[in-house]
Amino acid sequence: MTAIVTTRETELAEALAAVRARLTAAAEAAGRNSDEIELLPITKFFPASDVTILHHLGCEAFGESREQEAANKAAEVANMVGGAPIRWHMVGRIQRNKARSIAAWAYAAHSVDSVRLVNALDRAAAGALADGDRTAPLRIYIQVSLDGDTQRGGVDIADPALVDQVCAAVQAGDGLEFVGLMAVPPLGADPREAFGRLQSELERVQRDYPQRLELSAGMSGDLEAAVEYGSTCVRVGTALLGQRPLTSPGVVTPVTSSSQTPESKVIRRVER
Ligand SMILES: *Cc1c(COP(=O)(O)O)cnc(C)c1O
Repeated sequence: MTAIVTTRETELAEALAAVRARLTAAAEAAGRNSDEIELLPITKFFPASDVTILHHLGCEAFGESREQEAANKAAEVANMVGGAPIRWHMVGRIQRNKARSIAAWAYAAHSVDSVRLVNALDRAAAGALADGDRTAPLRIYIQVSLDGDTQRGGVDIADPALVDQVCAAVQAGDGLEFVGLMAVPPLGADPREAFGRLQSELERVQRDYPQRLELSAGMSGDLEAAVEYGSTCVRVGTALLGQRPLTSPGVVTPVTSSSQTPESKVIRRVER
């Protein structure tokens, strides 16, 4: 390994330890076991080399928010680490015409918010299972919108019948496994209030399902609040990898470890 990679490795190791410590403290404060809360690093905008470093540090699952970037990165990482199992989660908006590609690389999708999208993913995942291109159903979290601004993604939480309809479509899918709910708090909202409503909605939906449903909630800035309200998967980008660069690997030129540092070239991207 080059000196630069070693520096990045130290940086990522320290950030990972710090986030794990936050998670442990949050679980303790909430009277929960931190083993039941998955830490999902969100690696969008960061290069495959960062993923392989985090993989060496013990991370086995990663989240991405752009389909093409994710597909490219998943292939690149597979080449770099060989046969070691890596689980990729799609956490960003999904276009129906990307369902087949997603079924080829994703272990889970967190941002599913319509029956039409569920049906497209089900067809794609069932086809991939039949062809031997995947070995397990695609795990689905239904994204709910806490403020009704469904342009930003999610089924409106104020329309429980619609939430139920989308969840039921997932449960019925041969290629899908219904895992739980996901949400991103509205901009400027009090995260505790937002996650409290999300937890109540999960409890309502849970009554209809035998499997224990999970909750994908909490990011770099609000993971403590999410853990307090029952999150079982926190999606952490910035606190692990740093501020996101302006360009996205797979979309423009790949960002290398050595080109990430100059502060002047880094912009805080709020991807929601
Ligand atoms: C980018 C992203 C995250 C990570 O956000 P940070 O604030 O950088 O931790 C989490 N969830 C989704 C859906 C994202 O797009």
